[in-house]
Amino acid sequence: MRSTRHLIAAFGAACTAGLAAAQDAAPSPAQAPSSAAAAVTAASEPASARAADKPLTSFPYTPVLDLTSLDRGANPCEDFYRFSCGGWQKNNPIPSDQASWDVYAKMSQDNKRVLWGILDRLANQAEGRTPDQQKIGDAFAACMDEPAVEALGAKPLAPLLDQVAAMKSKKELPAVLAALHLATNDDGVLFGFGSAQDYGDSTRVIAFANAGGLGLPDRDYYFKTDAKSKELRDKYVAHVANMFRLLGDGEAGARREAAVVLAIETALAKGTLTRVEQRDPQKLFHKADAKALQALTPGFDWKPYLSGVGQSGTNAFNVTEPKFYRALDAQLRARSLGDLKTYLRWHVAHASAPFLSSAFVNENFEYFSKTLRGVPELAPRWRRCVALVDNQVGEALGQEFVKMTFSPELKAKTLHMTHQIEEAMESEIKGLDWMGLETKAKALEKLHGIVNKIGYPDKWRDYSTLTIRRDDFLGNVQRGDAFELRRLLAKIGKPVDRGEWSMTPPTVNAYYDPQMNDINFPAGVLQPPLFDAKLDDAPNYGNTGGTIGHELTHGFDDEGRQFDATGNLRNWWTKKDAAEFEKRTKCLTDQYAQYVVVDEIHINSKLTLGEDLADFGGLVLALIAWKAEMAAHPAPASVDGFTPDQRFFIGMAQWACANDRPEEMRLHAMTDPHSPNKYRVNGLVANFAEFEKAFACKPGQPMAPVKRCRVW
Ligand SMILES: [Zn+2]
Repeated sequence: MRSTRHLIAAFGAACTAGLAAAQDAAPSPAQAPSSAAAAVTAASEPASARAADKPLTSFPYTPVLDLTSLDRGANPCEDFYRFSCGGWQKNNPIPSDQASWDVYAKMSQDNKRVLWGILDRLANQAEGRTPDQQKIGDAFAACMDEPAVEALGAKPLAPLLDQVAAMKSKKELPAVLAALHLATNDDGVLFGFGSAQDYGDSTRVIAFANAGGLGLPDRDYYFKTDAKSKELRDKYVAHVANMFRLLGDGEAGARREAAVVLAIETALAKGTLTRVEQRDPQKLFHKADAKALQALTPGFDWKPYLSGVGQSGTNAFNVTEPKFYRALDAQLRARSLGDLKTYLRWHVAHASAPFLSSAFVNENFEYFSKTLRGVPELAPRWRRCVALVDNQVGEALGQEFVKMTFSPELKAKTLHMTHQIEEAMESEIKGLDWMGLETKAKALEKLHGIVNKIGYPDKWRDYSTLTIRRDDFLGNVQRGDAFELRRLLAKIGKPVDRGEWSMTPPTVNAYYDPQMNDINFPAGVLQPPLFDAKLDDAPNYGNTGGTIGHELTHGFDDEGRQFDATGNLRNWWTKKDAAEFEKRTKCLTDQYAQYVVVDEIHINSKLTLGEDLADFGGLVLALIAWKAEMAAHPAPASVDGFTPDQRFFIGMAQWACANDRPEEMRLHAMTDPHSPNKYRVNGLVANFAEFEKAFACKPGQPMAPVKRCRVW
């Protein structure tokens, strides 16, 4: 995807090991649900603006090439990112409730302000609401009723915690776990369970048993021995103890319980693949029938669990990480019932903290946003509530958004550009000098099989079985989570719904799905300043053209290329061509590994390779498509003193303008498969002779190195 920045913010702080998988549509261990817990933890909105905070009824306009964002004091051949974005960085300090701030995040905030207006109106409308409007209006009203939430404290959590407390033996655990999974939809509670297309047969949906069970954002947090990592771990244990105290436990007991939680999570983390390993779909594909699944975990009886989540008859599973399940089984057998209850209590409280009284909300914010990401202030409640409704009933809310924002003309324009990018890819594949004819034929077959999904789904999700009550906030969240998990599981054994979207229409992002073999551009990402019908083609092709090319290239990156035209994990490359591809990608991993993220931390370029490749291919394709468009509609020689080629590159760079907190960069380096934005611009243009020519750079300058990488 083009950017995961705000996805991290939206699903964010409470996310665990499943983060990468849930965020990139690339072979995900399952459609692991974004837990609602995280949605409400989302950061946002400048606190300074809060006094004047009000909903938007229309979108503020920013051009796709913004002259005020430039830093003309910078030399484009030395640091193109600073040249293109230095002004933006100066004009857009990070709001106090954000971990980072960028063009996508700003747009996302504008979208949320528009959604706020819609929700506020529907929350207060007494009559004439459709069933979907009742749901989103009342979900928002319940979330905004802070006095009611405050008065209840931890009380709404009691029914779930009582189920945990009532367990008399470990035999009862599977049934209780099923109830907890339905109520929280959180893979932090021991493991993740969902559904996805069978990697071996993309026409089938099967059950996926995923790794999970962690509270920290990545397995590496449990093992790193440097001073900063140790400090973050110590503070995590203190936070877990604080949460137990909020549940009413005494000082010494809470400390002991937190130590138990860390010990269990560390053991589970040991069994978990690294993020780099998780990028290899072959490592995540282990088919099992019910018998084989049971044999893997003698200490966990799957029958009552599957019955509890309504999947008694299911007999086809992908156990993405068998090693994790062996570690889980060892813990379940070795730990006392009391320790397991302690672990479950923590995860239930953790998953629910954002929906409880301010004591819980603040304690959760202190660690997961302030300590881990450097965010000084909690986002205003309206913004957290909008994120929650978008997360839980997003296609009901999305319909209202689409009515306001997405015209048939805009859809036609985007499709035109998409077709041009696809034609560019066809000519690029045909012209590749290192790829043989056999592989080329398969690549073209895959390209021709790609489905373009633009704006919003043709058929909206049916929420009729979901009950939303105006006076039951946590109940709404739990029913919403259960609705989502049941929806995922109901797909098992049914034909694949190819019209489905995994992003909501207001989302400012895009994705490629290797098993559907489709690219998806929500309405939210097709707005200025990313796509600007008022300005000329050059910056538009550089920006949105580059994004379309980026998503398309994901089908052919180191991960996507392992799936064929029908979405099956099946090698279609000759040995020789695969070796040629890997030789060229190694040039990129070597290049990006040199860049520093923060302090002593370099880019983990094996983690970012897929995205770096997509950026590279995206720019190649956008350039070809733009040249074709120019042949039909010549560009003006100069606008604001910039040539068309210069405008193309500046438009490309300005999607990425950003400011980041150092804590966030540290988290980013460990968990985000994208390189930091600065290098997504500078590392990219350095590989393009067209850039050197456009800005008349001297060979040997940083943006015009003598040695370049070339993949496509
Ligand atoms: Zn991407």
